[in-house]
Amino acid sequence: MGALDGRIALVTGASRGIGRAIAERLARDGALVAVHYAANTEAAEKTVSGIVEAGGRAFPVQAEMGGPGDVDTLFTRLRSALAEHAGRVEVDILVNNAGEQTAAGLPPEEITPDRFDRMFAVNVKAPLFTTRRALEMMPDGGRIIGISSGLTRFAVPEQLLYSMTKGALEQIALHYARHLAPRGITVNNVAPGITDNGSPVFSVPEAVEQMSQLSAFGRVGRPEEIAGVVAFLAGPDGGWTTGAFIDARGAPGLGWGPHRGAGRGPAAPAPTRPPPPTEGLTMADRPVHLVVITASVREGRFGPTVARWFLERLRADPGLTADPVDLLDVDLPDRLPATDMRDRPPEADATAARLAAADGFVVVTPEYNHSFPASLKHFIDWFMAEWQAKPVGLVSYGGLSGGLRAVEALRTVFAEVHAVTVRETVSFHQARERFGADGRPLEPDGCEQAAKLLLDQLTWWALALREAKEHRPYRA
Ligand code: NAP
Repeated sequence: MGALDGRIALVTGASRGIGRAIAERLARDGALVAVHYAANTEAAEKTVSGIVEAGGRAFPVQAEMGGPGDVDTLFTRLRSALAEHAGRVEVDILVNNAGEQTAAGLPPEEITPDRFDRMFAVNVKAPLFTTRRALEMMPDGGRIIGISSGLTRFAVPEQLLYSMTKGALEQIALHYARHLAPRGITVNNVAPGITDNGSPVFSVPEAVEQMSQLSAFGRVGRPEEIAGVVAFLAGPDGGWTTGAFIDARGAPGLGWGPHRGAGRGPAAPAPTRPPPPTEGLTMADRPVHLVVITASVREGRFGPTVARWFLERLRADPGLTADPVDLLDVDLPDRLPATDMRDRPPEADATAARLAAADGFVVVTPEYNHSFPASLKHFIDWFMAEWQAKPVGLVSYGGLSGGLRAVEALRTVFAEVHAVTVRETVSFHQARERFGADGRPLEPDGCEQAAKLLLDQLTWWALALREAKEHRPYRA
């Protein structure tokens, strides 16, 4: 017999990520679960079929939140589905999980009234009125759980708007808890830290490594771990906890990086390569994370050979981590959005998140017609805040000029996006003749020395700017 046998739960945003894990967990504990989602029918059906195959009970409910009539649509559909699946039209457990996030960050200067209204409509207004409507159907002893965020306890200027919505969401629990205590209904918040919701950034080892340093466990959270906290609050043992903020952030306050020895907490999945040593390091000292961009997309290009050599050199330094971005693999639309880069499509968001996670950049570029390739210019133009107040190192290759005219042209372009190019460069004249069949330089001394100087300068700038931005966020 499960702790939630006979209970009916509505989990908003349950098609993917944390919401899906919550739906699966509540169903495993015996609840009949309404799997709410906005548009991703395939994902919602997958959540439902997974629950059913595991012996649980669930059904999907679609309703896009944040627009006129959103809550009415949700409850009309929920009521008719409950009449079909449950035999009683009631909700015992409500989990307000659906939310919009600004994964790539939104600097305070770029918060517009429209973005404010949209984010508050989805993250605050929808859960408030969903709560009100659910309460009309909730017997005494019910449970309401809001999924907030660790960002209400941690200053990240690029998450101001999102964090404001979560701060407002938390008020629902605080005040309703007192209001509903006489009915034995509990209302609480669970605040996850960075949790792997399956979005593309979680498949970039270097980005995950960096995010992992925010937790004392030295890794990012798993959706099931958030679901476990929700299950406790939803179950009979949660009846004496109300109006609470439950910290499920993976303990960032205990310091950066994993401990040694016993009591390390839940095991981390094995990293793809050993993470750089982080124990005892401050935010300012953690490894410098560099995105290394291979700029050429021309058939028969030589760029990957140069980039591979440089990455090998970079990764030999334990103070550095690298995320290689090959422009051949980046699929950005030809047309740029009008002016507001924040309105970019989802395919650009994943790349933006990788660039935003970087402390600096290295561009490996050839020279075409006295400049750098158009593919690189298009890529640079797609982003803005992601480049700002960060250093850029330039590695070039070409014929007689060694790509140096591309380097000089790039200096002015990067200055325009508020990035600083470092003085030292690595350049390969007659590049194809300078590498052996094993992809390594035939005369390594000179280029190794140049790469070291470039990386030393990049590291200095990256650390100096990181420290500076912590005290004084960059304003364009
Ligand atoms: P996710 O993977 O992006 O999934 C979002 C879910 O919400 C999906 O089911 C989506 O439905 C639904 N949704 C999004 N916008 C909606 C709208 N306008 N109307 C209705 N449904 C909508 O999210 P997640 O990362 O698991 O996050 C879940 C919750 O945890 C969010 O409230 C988030 O703020 C919070 N959180 C997440 C993290 C984290 O690191 N992941 C950390 C702290 C807090 P479709 O599939 O149909 O689009």
